Amino acid sequence: MTNKLQVEAICQGTVIDHIPAGQGVKILERLHLLDSDVSITVGFNLPSKAQGRKDIIKVSDLKFTEQEANQLALFAQGATINVIEEYDVVEKFSMAVPETLKGAFSCPNSNCITHNEPVSSFFHLKEKEDDIRLKCHYCEKSFSKNIVAEI
Ligand SMILES: [Zn+2]
Repeated sequence: MTNKLQVEAICQGTVIDHIPAGQGVKILERLHLLDSDVSITVGFNLPSKAQGRKDIIKVSDLKFTEQEANQLALFAQGATINVIEEYDVVEKFSMAVPETLKGAFSCPNSNCITHNEPVSSFFHLKEKEDDIRLKCHYCEKSFSKNIVAEI
């Protein structure tokens, strides 16, 4: 089973596969994919041998920036990214939670210096059971990914 994907093939772009079922919608929203003019094919709740159910997102003519890929890791632990060129998977990598995340999310602490000073937010990340904890580098408060990513 090489390079075989469950949803219609795209010529070039990015396929995010093995997204935990239910997370696909959040990824679309978080990366503002529906606001852009790229073509997107999605499959939600597809059967998956490894996961039971999974979501899959195919984006034509787009490669994710490192920051987008890092944001993605918060919602889609274990997802794989396939870079497609000429209908072939030319690169494949697993999403791993990064150790740090800069500028992607605001600190939920309204007293945090990052809201008043011209500095980018900066979090240290730790995986904890089903959650990911983000600890602000500046105010040193720690938050669940669900709190940070809702803002
Ligand atoms: Zn903070």
